[in-house]
This record gives sequence, C-alpha cells and structure tokens, in this order.
Amino acid sequence: MSERAILFLPGDGIGPEVMEEVRRVIGWFGKRQLAIRVEEDFVGGAAIDRFGVPLTEETLAKAKAIGTVMFGAVGGPEYDSLPFEKKPERGLLRLRKELGLFANLRPAMVFPALADASTLKRELVEGLDIVILRELTGGVYFGEPRGIETLPDGQKRAVDTQVYTTGEIERIARVAFELARKRKNKVTSVEKANVMYTGVLWREVVQAVHDREFPDVALEHMYADNCAMQLVRYPKQFDVIVTDNLFGDLLSDCAAMLTGSLGMLPSASLGTPGADGRRPALYEPVHGSAPDIAGKGIANPLACVLSFAMLLRYSFDLPAEADRLEKAVARVLEEGYRTPDIMQPGCTRVSTAEMGTRLLAALDALV
Ligand code: NAD
Repeated sequence: MSERAILFLPGDGIGPEVMEEVRRVIGWFGKRQLAIRVEEDFVGGAAIDRFGVPLTEETLAKAKAIGTVMFGAVGGPEYDSLPFEKKPERGLLRLRKELGLFANLRPAMVFPALADASTLKRELVEGLDIVILRELTGGVYFGEPRGIETLPDGQKRAVDTQVYTTGEIERIARVAFELARKRKNKVTSVEKANVMYTGVLWREVVQAVHDREFPDVALEHMYADNCAMQLVRYPKQFDVIVTDNLFGDLLSDCAAMLTGSLGMLPSASLGTPGADGRRPALYEPVHGSAPDIAGKGIANPLACVLSFAMLLRYSFDLPAEADRLEKAVARVLEEGYRTPDIMQPGCTRVSTAEMGTRLLAALDALV
C-alpha cells in the first residue's frame, strides 16, 4: 500500500477554522492505524500576503506531486480591489485547471435531524442522498467563438458556443458509472437532446459507454428542464445525475437547496487517473470564506468534514471509514448539537471547536 498523503490548503477567513476540525478527525483515524501524511501550504489571500500571488509554482508542484488536496476557502473584502488575475479565487481556478479537474461532484444529503431546514416537505427530503456530477472544464463557458461584437447597423451581438467532444463526454460518463457502482447503481444522464446537437451527442455517447463498459448500472436519460422539475417534485428518485457544465451549474445549486444549509455541503473535483492509477482530486466545502463570521469560532465545520469523508471514499478507497465519519455527523446532529447557522429550538448551540469535539466523541461511540 503506497503512503496516503494530503496537501492541506486552508486559505482564508473560516477556511483555516473548519480545516482544523478535519485535522483533528485525521488525528483520530491516525490513532487507529490509519496513517495519513498531511502537508500544509498557503493559497488565496494567505498566499498573496506572503508571496504576492494567490498560488505559487512551488505549491502547485506540491499539489501535482501529492495529487490529493483538501481545500478550505479563499477570498475576503481586503482583496476585492485587486485585478482579476491577482484575486484569491485565481488560486483555486488555477489548481482546477492545472490538475485537470473536469468532474465536479456535489452530493445533496439530508440528515434526518436537519430535514426541517429544507424548504421542501420533510417526507420528500428526509434521508435524501443524491450526487450531481457536473462536467467542469468544457461546454458553453469555454466554447469558441465567444464574445460581443458591434454590427454594421450599431446593434450588438453576443455569442457563446456550447461544444463537447466524444472524449469529453466519455470521461465524465465513466466517472458517473463508477460512482454509481459505489452507491445505488443508477445514473440519470441529463441534456436537451430535443433541441441541442450537443445534447444528441451527449445522449449517444453516454449510452455507448454504458452498453460497452457498464451494462450492470441502471441508466436513464432526462431533459434538463424536466430534471429541474423532478428535483423539487421527488428528489429521492435519483442516485447519480450526470450533466454538462451549464446545466450542472444550475441543477447543483437547485439540489443544494434541498438540504437547506450551506454549512453542510461538501464537494469534490476529480481529474483523469495518471500512469500510476491515481486520480488527482480536490475536496472542499461549497461555502466561501465567510468574512462576516471569520475569527469568531462559530463556523460550521461539517461541510469541510463531509468533504474529507468524500476524500476517504473516492481518493483513498476507504468506504467503511467514510461511512463511519458520515454516521458520526448524523449522530452529533441527532444529539442536538448545532453551530449557529443550523440552530433549531431545543438544540444545544456549540462553537466550531466544540462541534469537532462532539464529532470525535461520536466517532468513539460508533466503534
Ligand atoms: P460565503 O459562502 O462565504 O458566505 C455566505 C453566507 O453563509 C455568509 O453569511 C456566511 O457567514 C455563511 N456561511 C458560509 N459558510 C458557513 C459555515 N461553514 N458556517 C456558518 N455560516 C457559513 O459566500 P460569500 O459571502 O458570497 O463570499 C465570501 C467570500 O468567499 C468572497 O470573497 C467569495 O469570493 C469567497 N468564496 C470563495 C469560495 C471558495 O473558496 N471556493 C466559494 C464561494 C465564495
């Protein structure tokens, strides 16, 4: 077994605060024969303050060599006036690009204890566990030609181009089917083949990859508008939803709201496996650096902890440990511990660090 290693990039604002709780969880596993080497570096505003850039070449080289990155959050008002290329967020975008992270996974999981935080009825979301898999590096956000031109009659004309190749669709489809095999074995592929040529190709290629390589996984095709409707009508019908960059952007936010709380949402971005079979990956909470609460010790660390559970499952192939960590999260919530963002009547309000302590106690109790 090769060494398990992670590059920690806590970043700015509440990033370091929530990552500290992940560090404690790693320590807990470390005491139980699961050794993980952690290297730490700077990104975003924290890197700008030290080195003048949001991501140094050395940090990027480390990320490539280690291959597995835990990322906190970047950004803050003090950097808002910097030119676009120098902003903290560029550090994250560059990491995604340089590591070739084309597959973005956003689970929407509703813990029973938090079912009332959703705007949907409890029975529709309680126990929900679905994943939106979004293609991240192609499609209409990158396709050429793009731009705004002035026409001879003085009007303006804007163009964006939706473009996908067979190879781009095949590689995201494979991630979807592999994911489904580790879950409930069902993939819903989403496009608009009724009105878009990219949709026609998307459907054809996903079906072909299925028939050739993953015939054991259930596959259905769905139009994107219908999928948006189905997500709020009966979300539990889904397991893995795979879709393009644009539809994924919209549908993942829609699915996120089913859970009702930003401080609980994890994510992962995956690349293509290298010659050694290892897939580059970056795990991060969906939320940002939350400057309004940074330094107060009240940030909810659970989105970051759940991102680490994804890391255990997808990068280290440790599903039992990932399950255990997710169960521990469910348990602290059932016990009524809440950071202020998810506070409910009758519950016990805790700080970021206290939530971490309760989580370790729940991990102990699950042994
Ligand atoms: P945000 O996610 O940081 O915060 C939105 C709201 O949710 C705030 O009121 C915040 O207090 C609350 N919140 C977020 N995470 C929380 C947590 N874990 N616990 C408790 N409350 C939480 O989004 P924003 O305010 O739009 O952006 C703030 C900064 O973060 C900006 O500089 C933005 O560019 C950056 N940002 C970074 C990332 C990233 O690093 N991936 C993502 C989004 C925003």
